[in-house]
Amino acid sequence: MNEELDSTYKKLKADILFVHAPAFYDFREESKVYFPFFSTSGDIPITPLYDSFPLGFKTLQRFLTDREFDAKILNLTSLLLIYPGIDIESLLRDVDVKVFGIDLHWMVHVQGSLETASLIKRIHPCVPILFGGISATYFADELIRYPFVDFVMRGYDTHLPMAKLLEALKEGLALKAIPNLLWKDKQGNIIDNGLSHFPSNMLTGIDWSNMPGVSKKSLFPITDIVTVENSGCIHKCGWCGGSGDAFKRINRCSHTLVQKDMAQYEYEMKKIKEIPGNDTYNLYTCGSYNQSDDRLESILSCISESNLKSIIYDQYHLTSDDILKSMVKANDKTVINLSPQSHDLRISKLSGRGSYNMEEMERWIERALEFGIFEIDIWFFIGMPEQSEKSVLDTVDYCNKILNHFKGKRVIPYICPMIPFLDPGSTFFENPGR
Ligand code: SF4
Repeated sequence: MNEELDSTYKKLKADILFVHAPAFYDFREESKVYFPFFSTSGDIPITPLYDSFPLGFKTLQRFLTDREFDAKILNLTSLLLIYPGIDIESLLRDVDVKVFGIDLHWMVHVQGSLETASLIKRIHPCVPILFGGISATYFADELIRYPFVDFVMRGYDTHLPMAKLLEALKEGLALKAIPNLLWKDKQGNIIDNGLSHFPSNMLTGIDWSNMPGVSKKSLFPITDIVTVENSGCIHKCGWCGGSGDAFKRINRCSHTLVQKDMAQYEYEMKKIKEIPGNDTYNLYTCGSYNQSDDRLESILSCISESNLKSIIYDQYHLTSDDILKSMVKANDKTVINLSPQSHDLRISKLSGRGSYNMEEMERWIERALEFGIFEIDIWFFIGMPEQSEKSVLDTVDYCNKILNHFKGKRVIPYICPMIPFLDPGSTFFENPGR
């Protein structure tokens, strides 16, 4: 094993080690398993193994560290990609942690997360294994039945329950009062503490200043940051596990959206500014389509201070002229993603979109470019409701029309298949016959 790596992991101690598993374990022996590739896209720097871990790992790390717990993150996927010859069992044997926390956020990780949990349990039979994330919350009752799963922490915001859990484990306290926890006692009985922790704001921003930095040796340096402005959504795209309806269903709550506290957003932007060489980084903001104009103006004002190279926004509606101008003022390399899903307004509406037709979109693109928007990406998907083969091919023709119409300008249409798993909890998943 790499000696430097060996000494790093021999020393690794933590109250909780968050482990991000690859989509498929062990891909090093089954390199043909690359289906997740179909859900990756040109502008998202991610490998077919989904090596990006959920942002919740970073907020949990900050929240728990602030409360004097030692919380570390192991991105097992990246580690296996960087050191393909690594003996993972020997590495895991050397770590000394009190709890392993594994994310099952996106379904694409289901095999990798379960296999990794099973492997860890074989190596550390006495160390509890905890699952969390959107899919873990949805499938909590199924997950807890696996012999290698001890805890499932459910919900969209688990910061406080996680701190209570670590405290209880440290002090040997009863676990019955910890909200959102589904767990097994020593006899293997499953105990459901119920879901009762539903904070109305996201109160923990990410400390981006401790990013590992870009290695000079890296051939493909990753200089992208993703931030979320909220959890949940005001929109209702039927295939989406993050829609407002899915959010209520999965978390068993009555609200569809939880906004990030503005002070925390400001904190994140300040921390981004502290990253060495941050003017080479791109920021992908996730959730600007859930913001009122006033709140979005405040967000843009924070972004304008961050000194980043470029910013990407997803937009559900065609952005107003005033907001377009503010976006350009905040950063002159502003990229907007539009996702009409289909050029056909009827199919677009059936997909949960359809708030504009293609003529309106084209006129809007002309204006946005005039205001100084740097690039506009238009996303179409295959697999939308009532979409026929002919309709898909008509969308391809429409992409060609767009390319010709905006020749020489940064207007880029994409067409790609819907992800290999329909999100659990989404409206289409719940009502497959409709
Ligand atoms: S896909 Fe639709 S429902 Fe899902 S987060 Fe985006 S806008 Fe909201």
